[in-house]
Amino acid sequence: MVRGHADAGGRVGAASTLPARALLNESKVAYDGVMTSTADLGPFEPAALIRNSGLRVTDSRSAVVDALRVKPHSSAEDLYRVVALSLPQTSLQSVYNALSDFVDAGLARRIEPAGMPRLYELRVSDNHHHLVCTRCGAVEDVDCAVGGAPCLEPSQGHGYVVQTAEVTFWGVCPACADDVPLA
Ligand SMILES: [Zn+2]
Ligand SMILES: [Zn+2]
Repeated sequence: MVRGHADAGGRVGAASTLPARALLNESKVAYDGVMTSTADLGPFEPAALIRNSGLRVTDSRSAVVDALRVKPHSSAEDLYRVVALSLPQTSLQSVYNALSDFVDAGLARRIEPAGMPRLYELRVSDNHHHLVCTRCGAVEDVDCAVGGAPCLEPSQGHGYVVQTAEVTFWGVCPACADDVPLA
């Protein structure tokens, strides 16, 4: 729940702006609620997830998948700090490369809330949205309103065939609201 002056903003993607890869990925995973959270990925080892995405398994990629599980909605720099604990020889560049490959392969999703670094997560293809704290930058998942894309229709469609709606809800998280109560 968002307290305070939360307002919904966001971008509505149209058919012409979607990369072909994204469309392929959409068709691969059904909106059947199977992958509703990263916890649901539990039975899958990182190596299996990577292999099933058509990528070669490397220590670096496996470590990045593990880091994404522990810290979803993290930046490449944050993930690098986690990966470096188990793979000290890893470079920030190799984490960037792994994340880029994951996004291309549909294994990871990249979100770009305004004014924040690019964030990555393993929860893909379920059309979920995000709540972002304007004070501390905390990010929470919000389930898709209707279970499939697009769950929102623009008030003016301009003739576009709308395929997805990516909504960012901005507000103040409970911890920050407790620290400095909203006026
Ligand atoms: Zn906060
Ligand atoms: Zn998310």
